[in-house]
Amino acid sequence: MARPDDLVFAPLGGVGEIGMNLSIYGLGNRQQRSWLAVDLGVSFGDEEHLPGIDLIMPDIRFLEKEKKNLVGLVLTHAHEDHFGAIIDLWPKLRCPIYATKFSASLFAAKLAAERTTLKIPITVVPSGGRIDLGPFNVEFIPVAHSIPESHALAIRTSAGLVLHTGDWKIDPTPVVGPPTDEKRLRELGDEGVMALIGDSTNAVRDGHSPSETEVGASLTGLIKAAKGRVAVTTFASNVGRMRAVADAAKAAGREVVLVGRAMDRVSQVARECGYFDGVQSFRGSEYYGHFPPDKVLALCTGSQGEPRAALARIARDDHPDVTLNKGDCVIFSSRTIPGNEKAVGGIINGLVNQGIEVITDRDHLVHVSGHPRREELRELISWVRPQLLIPVHGEALHLNEHAKLARQMGVPKVVVCRNGDLVRLGPGDPAIIDQLPAGRLYKDGTILEEEKSRAVVERRKMAFAGCAFVALALTQTGDMVDDPEVELIGVPENNSAGEPLDDIVFDAVVATVEGLPKARRRDPDAVAESVRRTVRSVVQQHWGKKPLCFVHVLRV
Ligand SMILES: [Zn+2]
Ligand SMILES: [Zn+2]
Repeated sequence: MARPDDLVFAPLGGVGEIGMNLSIYGLGNRQQRSWLAVDLGVSFGDEEHLPGIDLIMPDIRFLEKEKKNLVGLVLTHAHEDHFGAIIDLWPKLRCPIYATKFSASLFAAKLAAERTTLKIPITVVPSGGRIDLGPFNVEFIPVAHSIPESHALAIRTSAGLVLHTGDWKIDPTPVVGPPTDEKRLRELGDEGVMALIGDSTNAVRDGHSPSETEVGASLTGLIKAAKGRVAVTTFASNVGRMRAVADAAKAAGREVVLVGRAMDRVSQVARECGYFDGVQSFRGSEYYGHFPPDKVLALCTGSQGEPRAALARIARDDHPDVTLNKGDCVIFSSRTIPGNEKAVGGIINGLVNQGIEVITDRDHLVHVSGHPRREELRELISWVRPQLLIPVHGEALHLNEHAKLARQMGVPKVVVCRNGDLVRLGPGDPAIIDQLPAGRLYKDGTILEEEKSRAVVERRKMAFAGCAFVALALTQTGDMVDDPEVELIGVPENNSAGEPLDDIVFDAVVATVEGLPKARRRDPDAVAESVRRTVRSVVQQHWGKKPLCFVHVLRV
């Protein structure tokens, strides 16, 4: 008798970290499986550890190999950590993509803004709809989140039903879109859920998260009380928040001016999809100066301190249309993503120094997270009653706390896994049964580099200790034809006694070459290696740091 098909799950990104989500589900047996991919997102690099790397994406070697068995890519929602890698990675897969209207439209707008002729079609699925993809039947269940049209996916197979939550929270009164579909989720529980693969982002936070509507009320109060100009910054993709700000501005008799390209792009897509029905129309930043200070509100990009975004430019008085003065007010309707604290702090201090009032979520309810806190996690588990829970979308601590909570709730099995673990969900006992190749790709300029790439390591070293270049011309018998050329980059000019470092290096190079035995001097590689060591150690003596060093020996 043929063994029944196994249903397996593997995260290829987004587990043990927040960002670059990619999950795959497989149905079949060890020899032959059909695969379904869920989400294909990016993470953002930080300057200090990965200089020059803006985007990090999952290594999809495994999916490339299994391309012919990949039935499709399904998107839960249009946040960058879930769909930001499609433009770079889809050409390696060329599989059909499925998403609801807002996500598909936002993707199309993003693709149109890139300088590419690439066509990437997305098939639009209605919210609440169901599609068959090979042996998988996928249902899009609406959930509340910080972007319109976030969906949990009910994935039905011959082996059982899995609920992949995507990013969600329970918000009975979201500003746009329907609340999380509790009724449907309870029905899934009645049907029998083999596994719940769930968002762990806020698993360390107690209680329920506040509603978007409460944030809207708080923003209205603050904006009504403001006397001068008001600027609000938030994530451009947070359409509900944009709407709350627009409503608050209207209540305070202010026109809304959009500042920053991402704001324009999202607002256009949101309007096309009906999320701004009944909302006053927004104006371009060129109209900002047309209104008296108490009749205008600037809705800006740049909540993470991005130096080229609208808010940073306004703060350093470098924006062509938008200015702020003493007595005006800036509201950060956002949370600072870890790693961006310095940049955001710099902008806040700059504004405060100019006498501008700054309001953040530290002192007022001007932001809420789009992810479930512990009470919400408990509620979902009680609705869905899964046989197995796998925490995803979180760092190690978040995953562990989510797992503990699930065990306390009496979920029969909990598996904590990491990127690359292949987990058998069923039938039979769930377990990690294999390792798939997984890792990170760096987007370096226009090139995708492997994680081990030398370029980033060298740039980090260069940033820390600079670089020394030496060029030498030797005759066949090993005599110097001319003075060596020495160039130091990113190295201080003088040592603490005021002596030029390039003179010191020059003398050391000459002494080293002249001190080498004749026989050794005839071997250019040996000369280069001796000079390299000398340069690094002499700079170390005078500076306390060893630069990278490159020596070129020419034989004439
Ligand atoms: Zn999200
Ligand atoms: Zn996410």
